[in-house]
Amino acid sequence: MSAGTGFVDLHLHTIHSDGTERPEAVVAMAHQARLQAIAITDHDTLAGLPAAAVAAERHAIELIPGVELSASDGHSDVHILGYFVDPEAPGFATELNRLRDGRHTRAERIVAKLQALGVAIELERVLAIAGSAPIGRPHIAAAIVEAGRATSIEEAFERYLGYRGPAYVPKRTLAPAGAIDLVRQAGGVPVLAHPGSLRRDDLVPGLKAAGLQGIEVWHPKHDPGRVSRYTAMAHALGLAVTGGSDFHGGGRGTAVVGEQPVPSSVLAPLRAQRGAALG
Ligand code: AMP
Ligand code: ZN
Ligand code: FE
Ligand code: FE
Repeated sequence: MSAGTGFVDLHLHTIHSDGTERPEAVVAMAHQARLQAIAITDHDTLAGLPAAAVAAERHAIELIPGVELSASDGHSDVHILGYFVDPEAPGFATELNRLRDGRHTRAERIVAKLQALGVAIELERVLAIAGSAPIGRPHIAAAIVEAGRATSIEEAFERYLGYRGPAYVPKRTLAPAGAIDLVRQAGGVPVLAHPGSLRRDDLVPGLKAAGLQGIEVWHPKHDPGRVSRYTAMAHALGLAVTGGSDFHGGGRGTAVVGEQPVPSSVLAPLRAQRGAALG
């Protein structure tokens, strides 16, 4: 397929964070969906990229190195996608490590709260479910389902782990500007993920001033009205547009690889903003 005529999916999770599929399997799904390029955007880790790169080469799909960082502004969870990040950038791996440590501490606190609520799950089981991945609430939710205290991941969030749930513990996270900086320091292009879930459009101009370079316009949580609204907002602010399925795999949401109509023409403006890793 020639450049600029196909479709891409720039938001994919693997087993290296809270997805259920190996990077090779995700790349194979992208191949099935006839995608031209994909980005693997695991939470706080680049560990899925080497295997994805091998598979992408075999299927002649372009792989964009990516990551998804969680930041918070008050009670709002601001997710920043970073594209074209350089894994070798000085300090980047250390900072990602620190974020993963924070997830571990938080998981301990969530499990303690669950136990106090009479939900008998063990931290060891949660760690085993997470494997080498940064621990996320979906791993804890899986342990709750296993223990028979919820029938699905969604129900585990509703009953215990969600923002209003009794076992909720906030993640010790970066401020949005810190996440944006971290991506820029690693030579990457920071993009605001799923603003339709964030519901804080008022934050976008400030994020742009802090160095944001794009907005995720296509996402399963965005109906056509939101796609138009965020496209217009991106144009007005001089931000690139991106999109993806936010695929996590079977049982963790209903997203399908390649389901969003993201044209490959989004890649050139994104690539043009790529910086050199600073440090
Ligand atoms: P964490 O990074 O540990 O805060 O977990 C966030 C992840 O949990 C998100 O990326 C989603 O995959 C998942 N998640 C958040 N809310 C829900 C929900 N209500 N139902 C199912 N999964 C959710
Ligand atoms: Zn996730
Ligand atoms: Fe997200
Ligand atoms: Fe995501």
